Amino acid sequence: CGIVGYAGPVAAPSNRPLEIAIEGLRRLEYRGYDSAGVAVVAPGLQQVEVRKKAGKLANLVALLNAEPLPPATAAIGHTRWATHGGPTDVNAHPHVADDGKLALIHNGIIENFAALRDDLKADGSVFYSQTDTEVAAHLLAREYRTHGDLAEAMRATARRLEGTFTLLAVHTDSPGTVVGARHDSPLVVGLGEGENFLGSDVAAFVSATKQALELGQDQVVTITADSVAITDFAGNPVEAQPYTVDWDA
Ligand code: GLU
Repeated sequence: CGIVGYAGPVAAPSNRPLEIAIEGLRRLEYRGYDSAGVAVVAPGLQQVEVRKKAGKLANLVALLNAEPLPPATAAIGHTRWATHGGPTDVNAHPHVADDGKLALIHNGIIENFAALRDDLKADGSVFYSQTDTEVAAHLLAREYRTHGDLAEAMRATARRLEGTFTLLAVHTDSPGTVVGARHDSPLVVGLGEGENFLGSDVAAFVSATKQALELGQDQVVTITADSVAITDFAGNPVEAQPYTVDWDA
């Protein structure tokens, strides 16, 4: 339902990625949701660190207080409005794959999830949730093993999915990077100084930057602290025009 992503300098792990993610989710609360979750990555972490919880953002914040996250360089955050699978802790996003090295969040509905799940299970993927989303996590992991590049893996994944989706993912192999894709669901880039942002809505990052880029239909974006690269699903580079968000935050 609500999506936020953040990439900061890999040389400087800090609490800022998590703070940006929680602040962004708070600003997206108006959209309504039933669960919330975050994932962070940092150099040296062997697994993505995920905290997720059914219910209000306060429940996630309480979990984060009980089980704090380590300093990080990139983060993704999600508020869920359940469409497939009840509003439980397990069904909350992010969903993890690739032996805990990859985490993914999703807005929308993956219509062909049942066929993909059968295919992925036959290939050895183990599913934990009842969501349509989890197929995208395992598919991305499988494509990543093939391509060795997260953006290329995201493009290959997006080409296989039917329905509506905004997807964001992080992987421990590239702890300063967040990759996203969109099809019939919004995704906006926020341009910072030495850091960059992603949001389902500019509300997700408008307290940190007013410089934004709108992603077009069927595009994939890769952000790091100091770069934003956009392509179509085939991998052709795309130019996007920055604009200034008109908003008093
Ligand atoms: N269809 C997904 C789920 O039920 C995502 C829902 C959303 O957009 O929050 O988990």
